[in-house]
Amino acid sequence: MPPEKHALLSASSAARWLNCTAAPRFEAELPETTSRYAEEGRLAHAIAELKVLKKFTVMTNRTYNTRLNKLKKDPLYDSEMDKTTDLYVEHLTEQAMLYDSAPTVAAEVQVDFSEYVPEGFGTCDCVMIGGDTLSITDYKHGKGVPVSATGNPQMRLYALGALRRYAPIFGDTIQKVRMSIDQPRLDSYTSETITVEELRAWGESIKPIAQKAYSGLGEFVPGEHCRFCRGRAQCRANADGQTALEDFKDCVPASSVPADSLVPQEYAHIGAHGNIVHPLLSDDEIGDLLIRGQHLVKWYKDLEEYATSRLLDGKPIKGWKLVAGRSIRTFTDQDAAIEAVIAAGYDEALVYDRKPKTLSELEKLMGKAEFAEKIGQYVVKPLGKPTLALITDKREAYNPAAADFAGVAE
Ligand code: SF4
Repeated sequence: MPPEKHALLSASSAARWLNCTAAPRFEAELPETTSRYAEEGRLAHAIAELKVLKKFTVMTNRTYNTRLNKLKKDPLYDSEMDKTTDLYVEHLTEQAMLYDSAPTVAAEVQVDFSEYVPEGFGTCDCVMIGGDTLSITDYKHGKGVPVSATGNPQMRLYALGALRRYAPIFGDTIQKVRMSIDQPRLDSYTSETITVEELRAWGESIKPIAQKAYSGLGEFVPGEHCRFCRGRAQCRANADGQTALEDFKDCVPASSVPADSLVPQEYAHIGAHGNIVHPLLSDDEIGDLLIRGQHLVKWYKDLEEYATSRLLDGKPIKGWKLVAGRSIRTFTDQDAAIEAVIAAGYDEALVYDRKPKTLSELEKLMGKAEFAEKIGQYVVKPLGKPTLALITDKREAYNPAAADFAGVAE
């Protein structure tokens, strides 16, 4: 796997710099970090690339197996990667079948979208071209949150780069662009198809924003996009945006509570504006506060994580120190300890618990298809615990009546 190069305005961070034009230069000043998840993602991508090449180009079994076995020797390799990359290739095969004749397919294609974004370049996991359609697919190995391809700036920038790359060969025959995001670990596969004209118009619309972000004269605008920003713990704008506790004082606008309100005198409470307010928050106010404070817990955890890493590096954080967390006793040699228990006269049946593997472990062991075929009929999915979500959330609203009958056979 070659070392990854990053553009200042990368496609993968486009959702961030399109909203906060100060972010790219700000992040560039901070040390680069990587995580086990990122490294696992790189390995899974390398396996996916190899499988795409085997499926859609000419590659001998011997070359394929040698390269695959080498990748499998990586300490981060997990058999789940084999299954998720198989699903990815299966999905690409379905995409290829949408074309009237076999499309041209390429994997890990370097694309240049600097016509729209200064120094913009990136890598498309898979490009297919046939008839009037260029199709690009991005494989995401993470299983954090599903990412939709609809209106996705990362995919649109890749698509602009792919169009530029293949224009000398295919010219104006390409009229449509299909952009897909595959997240097999989340069972999430989304696509968006737009015309080349629409794509280019979008590219033109973001040009001034990209210029601003590149120039170093951008503005800090905190929001949902801070989630993956390298500077989210140290960013002052992000901290200033976390005003839920301050807002608490003002949750009832002065004008909304009449001076002669119906609040009984004995319960009257003087609000932040010197007005009389009811001591109990109304349900509407609670809904409003939940919206204002929704990023607070995540941000506090970011601060904790940052302070912990600084303290571990020997740097002081005023008012804080690290202590050893709670720990549990463990055997230095479990096999020897168990042998000693049995030697002491205890029956093996009392010493060992025989436990079946969990549903997920069995699915991982068997693979999705065999799991569904052999034991799918024993699987039910009860309605999940009611979870608070914004009204704009795409999931269906929880229905307590339906929950009462969930799992009851007709
Ligand atoms: S944390 Fe948010 S506001 Fe601060 S630079 Fe990053 S994206 Fe911008």
